[in-house]
Amino acid sequence: MQDCVFCKIVERQLPSTVVYEDDKVMAFNDINPVAPVHVIIIPKAHIANVNELTESNASVMGDIHLAAGKIAEKLGVADKGYRLINNCGADAGQTVFHLHYHLIAGVKLGPKII
Ligand code: AMP
Ligand code: ZN
Repeated sequence: MQDCVFCKIVERQLPSTVVYEDDKVMAFNDINPVAPVHVIIIPKAHIANVNELTESNASVMGDIHLAAGKIAEKLGVADKGYRLINNCGADAGQTVFHLHYHLIAGVKLGPKII
């Protein structure tokens, strides 16, 4: 999608440090990390957020979670643990409206909100 930062990363119109890629999913380091490991996992197809999931595109959720496990293994945090976080919409603080999960790890993570 034109003007979508994450679509531009998929299209290599913007630089990123790719940590995982397959035909459906891409993952790259967050530009403003909040932990030693902070990876953004996205579907290559543009979906704004969870509100835009449908019967026909919801398989990306499985793809994203499968990728998350592989990335955690690759980065050596699978055993110690990690958080997968999705912010959906304005009240949740979503700033990039291309569906994404934050994989955060590498430190004892702070207090859980939930
Ligand atoms: P959210 O606030 O959940 O929408 O998360 C958006 C995330 O995307 C933030 O953590 C940003 O630091 C990150 N981000 C924005 N632009 C880029 C970029 N060009 N490359 C990597 N991460 C980015
Ligand atoms: Zn997009």
